[in-house]
Amino acid sequence: MGQEYAVTPWEVKGKVDYLRLAREFGVQLLTDEDLNLLKGLTGGDVHYLIRRGFFYAHRGFREILERARSGESWALYNGRGPSGDLHIGHLVPWILTKWFVDKFNVHYFFELTDDEKFLVRDGYTLEETNRLAYDNALSLIALGFTPDRLHIIVDTDDVAYLYKIAVKVAKKLTLSTVKNTFGLTDSNNIGATFFPAMEIAVAFLPTELLNSETPVLIPTAIDQDPYFRLARDIAETLNYPKPATLYSKFLPGLTGEDKMSASNPDSALYINDDDKEVRRKIMNAFTGGQPTAELQRRLGGNPDICPVYRYHTLLSDSDDEVKRIYEDCRGGRLLCGECKLILYERVSAFLNRHRELREKAKDKVSEYKISVKFK
Ligand code: SF4
Repeated sequence: MGQEYAVTPWEVKGKVDYLRLAREFGVQLLTDEDLNLLKGLTGGDVHYLIRRGFFYAHRGFREILERARSGESWALYNGRGPSGDLHIGHLVPWILTKWFVDKFNVHYFFELTDDEKFLVRDGYTLEETNRLAYDNALSLIALGFTPDRLHIIVDTDDVAYLYKIAVKVAKKLTLSTVKNTFGLTDSNNIGATFFPAMEIAVAFLPTELLNSETPVLIPTAIDQDPYFRLARDIAETLNYPKPATLYSKFLPGLTGEDKMSASNPDSALYINDDDKEVRRKIMNAFTGGQPTAELQRRLGGNPDICPVYRYHTLLSDSDDEVKRIYEDCRGGRLLCGECKLILYERVSAFLNRHRELREKAKDKVSEYKISVKFK
């Protein structure tokens, strides 16, 4: 029997066996055939987050690629429960989504679930989650999306776009299905049981807004699968196309956990961490290195268990550089201190630039709101 773990939309515990999780969820693994089909549509390019296996599983991705091949419409969708602790891990699926937008020139719908954060998390007022939604939107815009492709939905402000669809979705979902799927109990508030209808509604929104069948592709972490499994189950009964998903693994915690955790601030690199803080966290990170430099030179390190190496693979677009780090680590030619400094410089440059771009985005958020584009 393998190690035990638990993965739900709200919690990840234990050491995740990703192949087993894909089997348990009933999702498909990405195959060479899928990647070749993607390559054929993008002029030979496959984003490094897919190429390196960080995005590794899906539901219905092939159907989206077939639509792209035949020139039929599709759109992108993902989102975020707004909070004040946005970290680099949150940006990773958006970086891949930007690549899809650039390659396929499709619409991208982004839902900021200020309602959900208020309903399921203690300690937030609704005013606060709404303010955080607009704050988090800055990081998305800072990645370079243009307003003609990115359409931001803030649930409590833009409910008119979702409510009619959400009501139809809600009628198809029984209380016991929602309780079983999301692990809710009788002590949860009733808002938490309705909320999945709001998240699923966005998957069907492009078909309504564009007035033609437009399935969505949802690049997201695999813990979000329960929402979209339900969405696929009910789509056809509502005359909507089934949404497709593309699932990533989790970004490991710098301190050695399988997923960055809000309860351990040293496990994550937050977008508001200054250079000093970023350096401290990276230099203190768990590694796959040997206890001494002498042993590292003699025996080499183990990048396969090393979060520092993992970060290099997620933030460097150079395959040559990533390969060199891997081989130099294994061969004892790279010491952990040097390797961490390379990562620090990369993260610091990225975050400083990201914060500048967030500042510039401050006057532009309204241009991205769905209400400006779709009346
Ligand atoms: Fe990790 Fe780098 Fe040390 Fe290798 S050299 S174990 S990749 S920190």
